[in-house]
Amino acid sequence: MSRFVEVFGVEADGVWRAPGRVNLIGEHTDYNDGLVLPIALPNQITITASARTDGVIAVASSGQQDVVEFSLDSLAPDSVKDWAAYPAGAAWVLLQDKYEIGGANLLVESDLPTGAGLSSSAALLCATAVALLGLHSIEVDPAEVARLAQRAENQYVGAPVGLMDQMASMCCTAGHALYFDIRAMSTAQIPFDPPADGLALLVVDVKAPHRHVDGEYAARRKSCEQAAAELGVPALRSIAFEDLDDTLARLTDEVTRRRVRHVVTEIRRVEDAVALMHAGRLRDVGPLFTASHASLRDDFEITVPELDVAVDTALAAGALGARMTGGGFGGCIIALVEASATKTVLDAIDKAFEENGFSAPSSLDATPSAGASRIS
Ligand code: ADP
Ligand code: MG
Repeated sequence: MSRFVEVFGVEADGVWRAPGRVNLIGEHTDYNDGLVLPIALPNQITITASARTDGVIAVASSGQQDVVEFSLDSLAPDSVKDWAAYPAGAAWVLLQDKYEIGGANLLVESDLPTGAGLSSSAALLCATAVALLGLHSIEVDPAEVARLAQRAENQYVGAPVGLMDQMASMCCTAGHALYFDIRAMSTAQIPFDPPADGLALLVVDVKAPHRHVDGEYAARRKSCEQAAAELGVPALRSIAFEDLDDTLARLTDEVTRRRVRHVVTEIRRVEDAVALMHAGRLRDVGPLFTASHASLRDDFEITVPELDVAVDTALAAGALGARMTGGGFGGCIIALVEASATKTVLDAIDKAFEENGFSAPSSLDATPSAGASRIS
C-alpha cells in the first residue's frame, strides 16, 4: 500500500513537486531593487494529493507526527500554526484571489533540508499551491503562483521574505539560472549547466547555529535604505558602478560606505556572471563567487567563521570559486569545482570543520533543475 493510502485511506489523484533554490550571486541586492541569479535544486518538496468534497484540507508530512486538518471556510492568518501554516497559507491566498479550490488530502514529502537557507518554505508553499490548483485543473502563470506564495509567506506565515525564492521554485528551468531583475520585475533564463562542462556546483550546509539573523538582516536593510535616502535615490540599484567612488565620497559614515560598496559591486558581479555564462565561460564565473564572498565578509559583514572556513578551504582544495549564499550568519556555501575534484574539496571541508571543532557539514550536488511541475 502506498504511504498516501495508508495515511488517508483513499487513492491519490496526482503528484506535484516544487524545488528548493540556491542563489548563485546577487546577495542582499533584492531589497535594493537589484539583480539575483538563483537556480532550482534537484532537491524538492513533493505533494501527493486527492480532492475532498467537504471543504477540509488534511495535511501530513513525512517529517511530522500528526495529520493536521483545517476547514477552508474558517481560514485566517494565525488560524493554523507551526509547519501546517505553510499549506494553510497557500490555500488562504488562493481563496483570497477567488481561485475555486476545494478540500484536499495532501501528503508532503521532501529531500530538501529545512532551515538551511535552501528555501524549503517557498518550496512547500509553491508545491501546495500547484497541487491545490492542479487538483481542480486551474491553470495559473508560474510567476503569478510565485507572487501568491510570497503573499502567503508574508501575510499568513508572517515572514517578511522577498520574491526570489518563490520565483526560483516556480520559474527556473533545467540547465539554467534565473536572472531576476527586481526593479524591472523581469526574468531571463541564463545558460548554466556545470555538469555539461565537466564541472559541479556543490552546496555545503555549514550547520552553524543561527545567530541574531533577523536583527542583523533588519539592520542591513535599514542601512541600505538610509544610504539611498541620504544619496537621494529610490534604491541603491540607481547607483551606477562607474559612479561608485564619487558616491562613496558623499557618504559620511564609514560603515554605510562599505554596505553601499557591497550592494553596488555585487549587482555588477551579477551582470558580469551573466555575460560569462552567455559566453559559455563557466570556469571564469568562479572568481566572481569568491569576490562576492569577500565583499559579504568585509563590507557587508554577514559571514561567520564556519562560512569563511568552508569557502577558504574549498578554494585551497582547488575550487574555481566559492561563496556564502543566502542571508548570512549561517546557512550554506556554494563552490564551483571541476567534477573530478568534488571529493577532494568535500573531504577538505570535513577535515577543516573537524579541526576547528565545528559541527559536521553536509553537502549536495546542485545541478540546475526545473521549477515546479506535476509529476503524475
Ligand atoms: P528554509 O526556507 O531556509 O528551509 P524556513 O525557516 O524559511 O527555512 O522554513 C522552514 C520551515 O518550513 C520548517 O520549519 C517547516 O515549518 C516548513 N517545512 C519545510 N519543509 C517541510 C516539510 N517537508 N514538512 C513540513 N514542514 C516543512
Ligand atoms: Mg525560507
